[in-house]
Amino acid sequence: TVPVITIDGPSASGKGTVAALVADQLGFHYLDSGSLYRLVALLAIRRGIPMEDEAVLAEAARQLPVAFADGTVWLDGEDAGDAIRGEEVGMGASRVGALPAVRAALLERQRAFRQEPGLVTDGRDMGSVVFPAATLKVFLTASADERASRRYKQLIGKGESANLQKIKQDIVDRDARDAARAVAPLRQEPDATLLDTTEMTIDQAVDAVVQWFKE
Ligand code: C5P
Repeated sequence: TVPVITIDGPSASGKGTVAALVADQLGFHYLDSGSLYRLVALLAIRRGIPMEDEAVLAEAARQLPVAFADGTVWLDGEDAGDAIRGEEVGMGASRVGALPAVRAALLERQRAFRQEPGLVTDGRDMGSVVFPAATLKVFLTASADERASRRYKQLIGKGESANLQKIKQDIVDRDARDAARAVAPLRQEPDATLLDTTEMTIDQAVDAVVQWFKE
């Protein structure tokens, strides 16, 4: 069977960066599952769909005209890479992600990314729900202060204004919502290996995952 490495963890932990680099090193496909939830939230904002309208949001998720190509994510032919990164869309993703029908609508779409020679995927429930029989499951985290500080530096680096306290509060709120929901709550699975990157560089984290996979 096609190998799968799942990397789940809280917001702004760097799991997306690590997952993409692990995929590069191994020559595997990469799925950023959070971008699917973010796209549903973006559509909801644009179309004025209430974030609680489960049936309409699930239909939007089923129909999602998404394509991953050229290192970005395309929504109906539009490069949505930047549009989905904002904090408003992130918080919206966390709200639509709490709706069971939306999660169900995205399930098979995510599983279809399991293709030769292998897949690395990051999210919240990749190891628990989407790929329960994954080859390697990692739970990647870092302290809330460290995650806030990384996000802050990233925004400042892009020339955007940022408030460290507000960023930390957003991160803590989003984690709390993701951990409290009834379906696919954010938590470390018993069979997932913990990778606490608070005091690690990106390269060290990538090496650790590749090493575990090869063991
Ligand atoms: O990982 P990212 O920050 O892009 O995810 C945005 C939101 O989408 C998360 O806060 C979470 O609520 C939701 N999500 C999810 N399941 C996933 C990936 C993301 O519920 N597999």
